[in-house]
Formats: sequence, structure tokens, C-alpha cells
Amino acid sequence: MALELRPNCEYCDRDLPANSTLAFICSYECTFCADCVETKLYNVCPNCGGGFVPRPIRPANEWRPGVSVARQKPSSHRVHLSYSIADIAAHSMRIKAIPPADR
Ligand SMILES: [Zn+2]
Ligand SMILES: [Zn+2]
Repeated sequence: MALELRPNCEYCDRDLPANSTLAFICSYECTFCADCVETKLYNVCPNCGGGFVPRPIRPANEWRPGVSVARQKPSSHRVHLSYSIADIAAHSMRIKAIPPADR
């Protein structure tokens, strides 16, 4: 079991390569860029309502046998929004004041 490491921001569709420090994920691995998390989503996942954390970077070097970004390759499947922009904005407004631990 490993993170999929999805290739793009689900909101703005910018590329988020496996070594990007701008990628954020929720507990379901819904993936967004730092800009969208901050200025569009207000730390509310549009799909599940949870908060985000920075996506860990899988090592490029095989420091231990069988584990590296070359061994468990990032996903190439681009994911896109499942809701309208207006729906997502309302969803964020409804939830953003509640700390992620209390949602
Ligand atoms: Zn984005
Ligand atoms: Zn989510």
C-alpha cells in the first residue's frame, strides 16, 4: 500500500509532480495545490470536508531495497472536480470555521 501520488491539482489542474512541495492531500488522497487549498478551498476538501496536509515526497533514491519513486511509480491518472465551483465555494464556507479535528 502506497500513496497514489496523483499528478495534478484537482481544482486548477496544475501539474504536481511526485517531488512537488506544493501538493496537499486529504485523508482520502484528494490532491490540490497549496494555492487552491489556501485561496479557493480554505482547507476544506471539496469531496470529503476534511483538512489537508502536505503530501510526503517519496524518495528518488532507493535507500532500502524495493522502495523508491522508481519502484512505486506515481499515478498518471489526472483527477478533476466532481462538483461545480459554486457548490465547492458554498461547501467551504459552511465548514471552514470548524477545525479539521472537530469535523
Ligand atoms: Zn490548484
Ligand atoms: Zn477529501
